[in-house]
Amino acid sequence: MGMFRPMPLKKKEHVKGALGISERLLDSIIKASKSTYPNEFGAVLRKNRDGVIDELLMLPGTISGNRHAEFRFYMLHADRNVVGTVHSHPSPYPIPSDADSSLFSNFGYCHIIIAYPYNENSWIAYDRNSKRITLKVMASKQ
Ligand SMILES: [Zn+2]
Repeated sequence: MGMFRPMPLKKKEHVKGALGISERLLDSIIKASKSTYPNEFGAVLRKNRDGVIDELLMLPGTISGNRHAEFRFYMLHADRNVVGTVHSHPSPYPIPSDADSSLFSNFGYCHIIIAYPYNENSWIAYDRNSKRITLKVMASKQ
């Protein structure tokens, strides 16, 4: 299986309400994706007061299977710091499926797909229209 190399972004886009993702959280996503492989890992993304995505919410009732992870959002609509979702693909392609695009358009505004082999270069962030967005990786505060 070849290494996935993301295509360069054509233009920079800013994510409303989210400046970036913490290095620490990205590392947690990578570890969780590896340990869940070959099944999918899925969680909800939450930002901190500075607008940095810094927390994963693991939802009770979330199903990680070998099909797409199923998210349950009904309890999250009151949480203004929830920005979207993250899930892993056991393939080397972090490209949204039709089901992913449908999910993205129905919940939040910033979604991450991380693909095999699960590293700093194998993930892509998307907006609610499944368009690529730039998420800056922020060094974690000690
Ligand atoms: Zn997917």
